[in-house]
Amino acid sequence: MATLLIDKETCTGCEACIPSCPFGALSMKEGIAVVDEKCTFCGACVDVCPVSAITMEKDEKAVTIDAGAYKDVWVFIEHEQGKVSSVSFELLGEGRKLADAIGCKLSGFIFGKEAEGFIKEAIAYGAEKVYVTESSLLEPYRTDPFACAAVNLIRKYKPEIVLFGATIQGRDFAGTVATTLGTGLTADCTGLEIDPETKYLKQTRPAFGGNIMATILDYPNYRPQMSTVRPKVFPMPRRDDSRNGEVIREPLPMTEDQIRTKVLEFIKGAEAVNLADAEIIVSGGRGIGSAENFKVVRELAGVLGAAVGASRAAVDAGWIPYEHQVGQTGRTVRPKIYFACGISGSIQHQAGMKTSDIIVAINKDPEAPIFKIATYGVVGDLFTIIPMIKEEFRKRLGR
Ligand SMILES: Cc1cc2nc3c(=O)[nH]c(=O)nc-3n(C[C@H](O)[C@H](O)[C@H](O)COP(=O)(O)OP(=O)(O)OC[C@H]3O[C@@H](n4cnc5c(N)ncnc54)[C@H](O)[C@@H]3O)c2cc1C
Repeated sequence: MATLLIDKETCTGCEACIPSCPFGALSMKEGIAVVDEKCTFCGACVDVCPVSAITMEKDEKAVTIDAGAYKDVWVFIEHEQGKVSSVSFELLGEGRKLADAIGCKLSGFIFGKEAEGFIKEAIAYGAEKVYVTESSLLEPYRTDPFACAAVNLIRKYKPEIVLFGATIQGRDFAGTVATTLGTGLTADCTGLEIDPETKYLKQTRPAFGGNIMATILDYPNYRPQMSTVRPKVFPMPRRDDSRNGEVIREPLPMTEDQIRTKVLEFIKGAEAVNLADAEIIVSGGRGIGSAENFKVVRELAGVLGAAVGASRAAVDAGWIPYEHQVGQTGRTVRPKIYFACGISGSIQHQAGMKTSDIIVAINKDPEAPIFKIATYGVVGDLFTIIPMIKEEFRKRLGR
């Protein structure tokens, strides 16, 4: 990417550069500054050298990319079993804001055997243009043809930003696309924003095991800027079927014999826990006390037609499988109603549920942090409160 050069003839050995390096990559050897492999080419030392003995040489690739040639925000429109994934619409909603902040167009790109119905939906949710590659090789999903189709479109039309859902498909082929194009990819973003001055994409995601939120900028000379984003992080935009959009079709430049995987058979796994799409979730935490006690949560969920969620403490205790975990290292959910039962409301749990429309917290500790974000809070013993709530809903709903 770059090389740091220290001119031995010019260096006076003043040592001004040594404390300027945030990574401790500079030291003195025989009265001259030397750099080691810890250098990240941040350029801090270049600026402080009083005699301009330190320079940075960027490699050809870094200096020849014309970032200005890249424009528009693209969203990958993912579909499975004839249905567009809701995360694609959520990203069109967020993509609209990014495109407006930059002053460019919002486009979708779709791959499949027959994409007609999906094109209409992408336009209804805000895409001004839709790029389409149709081929029988694109169904069922395989990494090679999807990556090939995406790279082909991106090289030809040069989008500035490309967004994928952090789904099984998106997580899988976005990485291949990024490495083929030689650009960056920020995975599992929870926030996207355009820097008002530089117009670069600021991508926020949990880092260091989820203990901090890091905002990441792609290296300015690499394009497109690419992110995967978890489902339910952004709200659904409004659908408007009266919208019109331009459709651009490109063939798949790949043949079956160039694809390294063959799909022989699909074996259905155990019934998935669909927390992401649930409108009501009843979650239990450490306050539930045991696997058997989760019955009280399941009974309320049953009456409400809700999905069952859990805090990590309940999952770690082995009371309920990981698929139910809500939070930073579990699912991100955005139901209409979220019941938090015996959950204190740690920052990591909140990261997965705080955008729920209504939060009902049941906790015996009035100081529990969950009450700070709860719409309705009930202070009391959950083993008394939950059966009362269940009974009332049962009567009113006639279940
Ligand atoms: C990197 C990292 C990632 C993490 N990811 C996640 C994640 O994805 N999801 C997640 O949930 N956590 C996550 N955690 C863990 C998180 O920090 C908390 O430890 C966890 O959320 C606590 O779960 P809890 O609220 O169930 O338990 P506690 O914090 O122990 O709270 C239990 C609550 O139950 C109440 N209670 C007890 N008995 C009763 C009763 N009879 N009636 C009513 N209330 C009662 C108590 O007052 C208490 O408030 C993560 C932590 C780290 C460091």
